[in-house]
Amino acid sequence: FDWASFKARRDAYLERLRGIYANRLQMDDVEHVEGWARFVGPQEVEVAGRRLTGSHVLVATGGRPTLPKIPGAELGITSDDFFRLEAQPRRVAVVGAGYIAVELAGMLAALGSAVTLFLRKQQVLRTFDVLLRETLLEELTAGGVDVVTRFVPRALEEHAHGLVLLGDDDQSQEGFDMVLWAIGRTPNTESLGLAELGVELDDQGAIRVDAGQATNVRGIYAVGDVTNRKNLAPVAIAAGRRLADRLFGDQPDARLDYDDIPSVVFSHPPIGTVGLTEDEAIQRYGADVKCYTTRFTNLYHAFGARQVPTAMKLVTVGNKEKVVGIHVIGRGADEMIQGFAVALKMGATKADL
Ligand code: NAP
Repeated sequence: FDWASFKARRDAYLERLRGIYANRLQMDDVEHVEGWARFVGPQEVEVAGRRLTGSHVLVATGGRPTLPKIPGAELGITSDDFFRLEAQPRRVAVVGAGYIAVELAGMLAALGSAVTLFLRKQQVLRTFDVLLRETLLEELTAGGVDVVTRFVPRALEEHAHGLVLLGDDDQSQEGFDMVLWAIGRTPNTESLGLAELGVELDDQGAIRVDAGQATNVRGIYAVGDVTNRKNLAPVAIAAGRRLADRLFGDQPDARLDYDDIPSVVFSHPPIGTVGLTEDEAIQRYGADVKCYTTRFTNLYHAFGARQVPTAMKLVTVGNKEKVVGIHVIGRGADEMIQGFAVALKMGATKADL
């Protein structure tokens, strides 16, 4: 594996994608103004020394990786910096328990880095179904990731033999070339002049919007990570499209349905999931919930040295066994979930599947 050629090809791919977006905007006659924007009135934005007005203004400024507020945090990197690495880090600490932590820990371990994953609690992907959480934790360990639980970072220090991560209760772990913070993202709302206009934010600093992506100030809308709701690129694109249909496409009822949005984690092995977890279903439907689970070794791994499992769960409700949750971890789960998510959304029963 050659990190340098991998990085060059990945960068070229991303550059090509950016070019495609820029071209499309140009073809659609969209004027692109570069600079830091700030509201100076509900329908007026100042950017690069110009004042632009519009009867509708959409905020889609996304978010940025969160750094912990501890001494030495700046010695660690985030997922943004990860894309700039010129060489494969050999001894890596990953701090966090979400998508980015498990994806990058798995990828680096598969490429031969020594990876330690630090969880402040006892599990990864806390909001996912228990079957996925437990199977992934086992597989991270089986794949060579050293998982340290109940470790709350207190400081990061640089010593001659590498970075040292200090935790509460006098814990310390040393000898890392790289520490990656993967503890969530912060919405980019601070410098936009939103407070002056009275645009409501939630307690995380994300913009509050209604079902139609509108803020509490007439004419100002927001989509994507800046609203901190299902932070996934395809969701932001879909929400933006519905908003455009509503404002300009003569479709007054167009809005994105935020229920049952499938999601994929590119862990090793990958996860595909849609609908309610078993716990959520029991909370909502009580004794009407019935789950079906299976676990087996995918044929691909049948006679390999390490038998990576596939595990699946169907969460059903009522006599007809309407499927309200589908959770899969294993080879191919990431592609598989797309079709099954459509079936769930259409109201499939277990018998239908
Ligand atoms: P995330 O999924 O929100 O997970 C971050 C986790 O880190 C928290 O849930 C928390 O878990 C833990 N954490 C928080 N503060 C911590 C602290 N101070 N010390 C230690 N652990 C802490 O965030 P992420 O992984 O950074 O990803 C950011 C966003 O990118 C996500 O919203 C995700 O939607 C998106 N993303 C999606 C994909 C994909 O679709 N495949 C891939 C990458 C990123 P506990 O509370 O359990 O400790």
